[in-house]
Amino acid sequence: MNRMDYQETVNNIKNYLTYLKEIGINELPVSLNTKLIAKSSEPGASVGQVSRLSENKLSADIKPKTLEDVKRMIGDCKRCRLHQKRKNIVFGSGNEKAEIVFVGEAPGGDEDIQGKPFVGKAGQLLTKIIEAMELKREGVYIANIIKCRPPNNRDPLEDEISACEPFLKEQLRIINPKIICTLGTFAAQTLLKTKEKITSLRGKFYTYEGIKLMPTFHPAYLLRNPNDKKYTWEDMQKIMEEYKHHKI
Ligand code: SF4
Repeated sequence: MNRMDYQETVNNIKNYLTYLKEIGINELPVSLNTKLIAKSSEPGASVGQVSRLSENKLSADIKPKTLEDVKRMIGDCKRCRLHQKRKNIVFGSGNEKAEIVFVGEAPGGDEDIQGKPFVGKAGQLLTKIIEAMELKREGVYIANIIKCRPPNNRDPLEDEISACEPFLKEQLRIINPKIICTLGTFAAQTLLKTKEKITSLRGKFYTYEGIKLMPTFHPAYLLRNPNDKKYTWEDMQKIMEEYKHHKI
């Protein structure tokens, strides 16, 4: 272990312990320490691996309770290369107790500048869709799979998804909505762990961690292909039907 790696590991642990203290956790379970020491002494485990193991293990054992906790957990995240060019981390916005959550792919240029999801042209269309469902944008929750803008809006890479998806998982676990609506191919494929195309996935309910999930087209795609808006509207009607059913 060279000095820089050592310092990075110490800083990672220090940041995490500060976060735990902030949320009122002053002690670590013995089994957790033991497991971490055992892992770190495994032959061939690099410092980076050990540091990731400790982050994963800690977050698996001690669950954040609020969205604010998740935000603190993300901190000034550098867990993947997308931190290098981002202006803002786009955490998500809306109602912490939302019954419907919309999940898109990743922030674009406008979102990166403002630090909020779906604020550009696609976001305006999403707002119209939400209002057409007789809901308010501030009543639902909106987030993305990836929290930092990929350069030139390229598709996120596998390792970026695995670094960032756990945060969305925690957000969804805390909000615990009745329905998730994924927007576009990428969000549906990531949450449903499938390679199926959005054209065959959309329009049907699936289950994600016990929550109903409806995939539909991404609003940015609908701006380019306005003739397909009718399909998204069909999908939204199914969501409204299901939502009413829950309300009764
Ligand atoms: S994309 Fe996610 S994992 Fe990567 S740096 Fe941003 S917040 Fe961290």
